[in-house]
Amino acid sequence: METPNSKRLFADAIKHMPGGVNSPVRAFKSVGGDPIYMESAQGSQLVDVDGNEYIDYIGSWGPMILGHAHPEVTAAITAAAIKGTSFGTNSEGEVELAKLVKKFVPAVEIIRMVNSGTEATMSAMRLARGYTSRNRIIKFEGCYHGHGDSFLSKAGSGVATLGLPDSPGVTPSTAADTLNAVYNDIGSVRAIVEQNHGEIAAVFIEPIAGNMGCVPADSAFLQDLRDICTAEGIVLIFDEVMTGFRVSAGGAQGLYGTTPDLTTFGKIIGGGLPVGAYGGRREIMELIAPAGPVYQAGTLSGNPLAMAAGIATLSAIDADPEFYKKLEQKGRAIEDGIRQAAGEPLTFNRVGSMFTLFFSEEPVTDFSSAKTSDAARFARFFNALLEAGVYFPPSQFEACFISVAHSESDIEQTISAITDAIAKSRG
Ligand SMILES: *Cc1c(COP(=O)(O)O)cnc(C)c1O
Repeated sequence: METPNSKRLFADAIKHMPGGVNSPVRAFKSVGGDPIYMESAQGSQLVDVDGNEYIDYIGSWGPMILGHAHPEVTAAITAAAIKGTSFGTNSEGEVELAKLVKKFVPAVEIIRMVNSGTEATMSAMRLARGYTSRNRIIKFEGCYHGHGDSFLSKAGSGVATLGLPDSPGVTPSTAADTLNAVYNDIGSVRAIVEQNHGEIAAVFIEPIAGNMGCVPADSAFLQDLRDICTAEGIVLIFDEVMTGFRVSAGGAQGLYGTTPDLTTFGKIIGGGLPVGAYGGRREIMELIAPAGPVYQAGTLSGNPLAMAAGIATLSAIDADPEFYKKLEQKGRAIEDGIRQAAGEPLTFNRVGSMFTLFFSEEPVTDFSSAKTSDAARFARFFNALLEAGVYFPPSQFEACFISVAHSESDIEQTISAITDAIAKSRG
């Protein structure tokens, strides 16, 4: 596959932007080579600036569950743009999107829109601190909650991919208020809660981790977490920026049946435009200004373009009673294909349409087991797949996403490309 135009663009970009990118996960640092520049996308396909086509498993890191440039989403954005992109006042779409989210996620009694997942988690953290009058938070090693200062210790996603040290630029006092527990290990949570009795404002968790690769939580573990938080007056926050509307219309909480106090959203609810949101129990949420004293604001929050894209996306999901069944079937087809083809004991984690193939023989249940994966081999695997026209995230510590636009032939082609890439990646 020849990519001269991508190479030329990246050579220019690196002079003007840090690392040549606007988000580190787009760099190819851990897999080698230059990143690809895309020209357009349609359905399951990406087309690069050299005219090469790829079957896409990044889906813009989660949002594109309907596939790229879905006609209803594109039409909704276009119609909204013609009417004005931002009023700086209230508009009807905000109410409609709030109602749509609430319809699927009953734990969300009221909701506030923001512009990214990062903003949602940072705001939820401030709110939990305001509500409890406590300072410390618990998160889990390998989980990613956006790039807010408090979340950058032992973080997943690009932080894990690049193997970065904990939080240069974060003050020691901020870092000291973040306590890391071990995913799926309730004992590690109990120990921290006991040592910091009456000091923990919130527990943040990805109820299915996607940012150390796909690592599902054990359902008993989530319920135990719920019980500890209830007993200790700790705000339980499910970060469903990735899993919200991905694993079921009710998110991971719908799937597992464990109810958090607050939930953060992003990605799918913005239909490919910049949106985040946080919501949950009315009693807590009503501390947010102007209903209450905890301040949080945004010039472009709830802007009509983003609301239109989100409404169109959630409405399309709502209109198809088979939506998640279809995604599950596609996910299962890929899983079965890979398991049969692998010819060796690799670890394949999947929940519905999110999955990760780990180059590890051990089960992957937390960040340490995720890190047993063979990174050099992943890099060879990634590059062999790319050459075959299958676009995976350029990191072992990310989840792949399937959209409803992935066809049977896409999936067949993917399985055969993966089979070859597994063979080629053997040392
Ligand atoms: C992507 C992600 C975020 C950050 O969202 P941005 O929109 O990139 O700021 C936060 N939490 C989780 C679980 C995510 O997957």
